[in-house]
Amino acid sequence: MIPFIKPKLTEKEIKAVVKVLRSGQLAQGPVVDRLEKYFKDYCKVDYCLAVNSGTAALHCALFAAGVEQGDEVITSPFTFIATVNSILMQGAKPIFVDIDESFNIDPDKIEEKITKKTKAIIAIDLYGNPFDYNKLLKICKKHDIKLIADSAQSIGADYYGKKIGSIADISTFSLYATKNIMCGEGGFVTTNNKKFADKVISFRNHGQNPARRYEYLELGYNYRLTDVLAAIVLEQLKNVDKVMDKRNRNAQRYNKLLEGIPGLILPIIERDKKHAFHQYTVRITEDFKSSRKKFLEFLSSEKIGYGIYYPVPLHLSEHLKFLGHKKGDFPVAERAAEEVVSLPISQNLAREDLSVIAKKIRDYAT
Ligand SMILES: *Cc1c(COP(=O)(O)O)cnc(C)c1O
Repeated sequence: MIPFIKPKLTEKEIKAVVKVLRSGQLAQGPVVDRLEKYFKDYCKVDYCLAVNSGTAALHCALFAAGVEQGDEVITSPFTFIATVNSILMQGAKPIFVDIDESFNIDPDKIEEKITKKTKAIIAIDLYGNPFDYNKLLKICKKHDIKLIADSAQSIGADYYGKKIGSIADISTFSLYATKNIMCGEGGFVTTNNKKFADKVISFRNHGQNPARRYEYLELGYNYRLTDVLAAIVLEQLKNVDKVMDKRNRNAQRYNKLLEGIPGLILPIIERDKKHAFHQYTVRITEDFKSSRKKFLEFLSSEKIGYGIYYPVPLHLSEHLKFLGHKKGDFPVAERAAEEVVSLPISQNLAREDLSVIAKKIRDYAT
């Protein structure tokens, strides 16, 4: 079996954890402080706050941006449920805008959805591919709304020479076990805005006044990261550029080895962006040798792991029925959900395994 993902911890991470365990300081403490400083410097952003999941990071971001009950937040229906749930957690209404061929929110379809109630846009760097920050920042400025980047999948990516995490009003990251940099469960919020940072510091700690213990300013949650997990992330972050390079090299090799197969659409590698390649996602279209279903059966029979992100666009999910959407509302996302397949791309994937996967797919499809 060639596994789809291959999370790996080294002796370095294990040693770092043991050191924290021996220190006796298990909750948020000095290692979290060090981690925040490390990631803030890496992104060249003014503030980084660590939290205990990517979902918590999104919730903090929405709170900091002032999203409240009755507000509207624009986002894409082609994302992980956490993006949309965080909007609901603040009592706001998710307003979907379809994606374009990049799988990210279509900037040209956003403005028609902006109303007096719109407070923010959450755009997602889906699969690790930075969305069109320049266009979205322009729209947000024009309408005086905030841009939140769900960068759960794009840690380490660049956009016109800037690190993801330093461009939007607020950015969020996930350190969940399958992400490029991970510790099981964790997340970051980054921003250049001191007011937003102060809000996050309070919100992740029960709404407590950061300057005065047991004085509560507003409703908050317990979203603190532990020093035990922070120690793992600190070790992993030292390798983030290596992880990026390996994943980008894997993507380039796939693109070369799979080029020209009828009906198989490969990811585009753009010059002005550095993609994090959290996923290497191809599309199986009408002109391909078989249906996607048959292709997936073939991959399983060859013991090649794969993923489908995401099989159901969120406007069609049971949970979000109350929004009143129907099939046909977001056709580009719906088609993507039927066509996408993600292939193994992990930094831990063996070079030979990638060649084997590509050869088997080519043999199958031609
Ligand atoms: C992983 C992920 C999240 C949520 O992160 P958790 O750490 O699992 O809470 C949010 N948005 C996207 C796009 C993700 O991929």
